[in-house]
Amino acid sequence: MPSGSNLIGSKSSREGSITFRSFDPGNFRELPIEFFEATNEEIEQACQLADFAAKDLRFISKNKISQFLRSVKSELVSSKDEILSYYTLESGLSEERGNLEFARTTNLLEDYAEFISSPDFCVNEREVGEPTLVKTSFGIGPVVVFGASNFPLAYSTVGGDTVSAWVAQCPVIVKSHPMHAGTSELVGNAIQRAVKQSGMPEGIFSLVNGKSHQVGEKLVQHPLVRAVGFTGSHKGGRALFDLASKRKEPIPVFAEMGSVNPVILMDASPEKLVDQARKLSESISNDAGQFCTKPGIIFVPEQHLAFFYIELQNRLKEAPSFLMIHPEIQKRYMERVDEVAKANNGEQWRYRSSNHPLSAVISVTAVSMSKFQANLTFHEEVFGPHVLLVGYASENELTNTLKLLGGQLTISIFCSDFNKLKQMSFMSVIPGMAGRIILNGVPTGVRVCKASNHGGPYPASTDSRFTAVGFDSWKRFSREIAFQNFPMESTREMFNENPLG
Ligand code: NAP
Repeated sequence: MPSGSNLIGSKSSREGSITFRSFDPGNFRELPIEFFEATNEEIEQACQLADFAAKDLRFISKNKISQFLRSVKSELVSSKDEILSYYTLESGLSEERGNLEFARTTNLLEDYAEFISSPDFCVNEREVGEPTLVKTSFGIGPVVVFGASNFPLAYSTVGGDTVSAWVAQCPVIVKSHPMHAGTSELVGNAIQRAVKQSGMPEGIFSLVNGKSHQVGEKLVQHPLVRAVGFTGSHKGGRALFDLASKRKEPIPVFAEMGSVNPVILMDASPEKLVDQARKLSESISNDAGQFCTKPGIIFVPEQHLAFFYIELQNRLKEAPSFLMIHPEIQKRYMERVDEVAKANNGEQWRYRSSNHPLSAVISVTAVSMSKFQANLTFHEEVFGPHVLLVGYASENELTNTLKLLGGQLTISIFCSDFNKLKQMSFMSVIPGMAGRIILNGVPTGVRVCKASNHGGPYPASTDSRFTAVGFDSWKRFSREIAFQNFPMESTREMFNENPLG
């Protein structure tokens, strides 16, 4: 059972007086455990310990980091049942989804453990000559991680940001998400055990709680913190980015934010449209559409808009019933759905398959191209199972409209004639817009591997040069130093393999 404590290095700590509780969506009730918001002193301790650990971690071998990742994995596995039962309790997500996220998290730890011990993981470049240069990567220093509500495991306490920061040899302070603070604490306990077993400096990991934004803001402003990994809303990511930029010494904020993930349909045959409606309906409604990669806007050839609108409704009515993860998320979702309906003179299809108070209201809004172009309300993310259908009359109209949308995590195109697709004018626009471009598939479901890219031009993320998912994500938290004219042996000993310990 979680205790409601902050985890500061190897200790549990509950010094403060401000408390909050997490929520059980399934039974629509607050859970009994009180979580203690971190005090200024606890935040200070976590930052001091992280700073201390950063100095040690810089010179630790890759093999040791690899062992640590495996140890975290094994401690998670030994607490799997407890973690998953709290995960489902606090999120209302199914056991099946919990198992998927759990496997993704442990696979990430194992894959990274293997990757950093392989020759593919090269952190050194040498240029022998006059002068001789050796360039090598170092951890940037303490990293603060904020996870989103919708991934209590894979984008949270030990998600992609935390693991990639460790790979870069940086300590991590996680600000737990208040909606799944208990799951975070249980995961944090497993990490604490792994830290001890693998002889890592205790400051490699701390977990602090906070319901108010103050805890996160203090962390981002703390002079010892060197970088931030954020997954969440555009509002939150932008607020923290601005805060970090205003520091005396600005630091990078790698914020992965929301996206509308445009989908373009190009085929005219009814059979193809029926099949596409089926695939897209699953992607829109699965886990109540609470995914950053959920399709938010579908561009449909104008002459097929009415047919596709009905077909999609029929498929969505077959979707299993899913809960929204929290009353606050549901409230924000319904406000946005109402806003979109109002902008479309009240015209919107809605469907609710159960009477549970958190049951997701699936909704579809169909608008004309001129309405879409004229109103920015239609261009922004609706986080939940809503989709906007927009009819397009010509290729030019579609190309010009895509130019109005900001950066995206993904763009998907359904087209069975690749030769035709290659000639479309929008094909020269979309690489400037998105981090992942998908042919004949849906954007939900993100593969984690060397070739992954999860990010995109602003506002999808704050730095489109990096990915938050996949093996390259560690690069966000490292910086390079070139050593000039150092004897090669000493460079290796001092800064890399460190055989002298
Ligand atoms: P959120 O409200 O932005 O919360 C994310 C985290 O940031 C929380 O810990 C939150 O703490 C903190 N936070 C937010 N605003 C803050 C501020 N002004 N100052 C300090 N801390 C702040 O997001 P969410 O509702 O949990 O998650 C849903 C959103 O995440 C959706 O927009 C979804 O698209 C996006 N998302 C993106 C990705 C991606 O990879 N791009 C993945 C998953 C989800 P508090 O709760 O204490 O406010």
